[in-house]
Amino acid sequence: QIQAAEQKTYTIDTDVTFPPFVYANSENKYVGIDIELLKEIAKEEGFKVDIRPVGFNAAVQSVSSGQADGMIAGMSITEERKQKFDFSDPYYSAGIVMAVKEGSGIKSLSELKGKKVAVKTGTAGADYANSIKAKYGFEIVTFDDSDGVYNDVINGNSAACFEDSAVMYYAIKNGLNLKVVTKPANTTETGFAVKKGQNQELLKMFNEGLAKLKANGQYDKIIKKYTEGKA
Ligand code: GLN
Repeated sequence: QIQAAEQKTYTIDTDVTFPPFVYANSENKYVGIDIELLKEIAKEEGFKVDIRPVGFNAAVQSVSSGQADGMIAGMSITEERKQKFDFSDPYYSAGIVMAVKEGSGIKSLSELKGKKVAVKTGTAGADYANSIKAKYGFEIVTFDDSDGVYNDVINGNSAACFEDSAVMYYAIKNGLNLKVVTKPANTTETGFAVKKGQNQELLKMFNEGLAKLKANGQYDKIIKKYTEGKA
């Protein structure tokens, strides 16, 4: 057993407008699947975390440049990212859905011609939008956080947004006035990430801790808590 005084603190960057993975609760404390998994894993493995709410793309940049030790933010494990990051074992999955304003009448990608689509900078949703924008003839508008993305659709500037399915469904369940109109596309697993080749001891502890939480039922409890309950 490691003594508290000897525990190392790791800087972990995240994206705090991303429920049910990471968000601030009514007491302004960061909670969600990612935060609870990380905290439980840190407790099991004997390390400390300093969680910084920098936003998704900023987290990608800070981990890539070595200014943060790791990131956890419902991050999709993609081949492209594996060039720059080492990922933990997966703890969830994410696919991209298209959502429109409730009552807008837009039902499919083919109705986006000449319209705007809102996405979050540096995300799988943004990559997806870029990969199909020529085919469907829409324009892309980017935001740093998911709230900016949703607001752009609600205020009518963008006709649609692309977002991770679990996140979109969670927001709608909690009262956001959007509607999902497509099935999840480009589904990948999600994981904790460190810079490629760096912080390998942290990655190893994350994987060991995650395996323990999966074995002792804590993992299922955390997932259930944030996918079945209300915010
Ligand atoms: N899963 C998406 C990605 O990794 C979105 C993550 C996020 O917005 N926090 O790109």
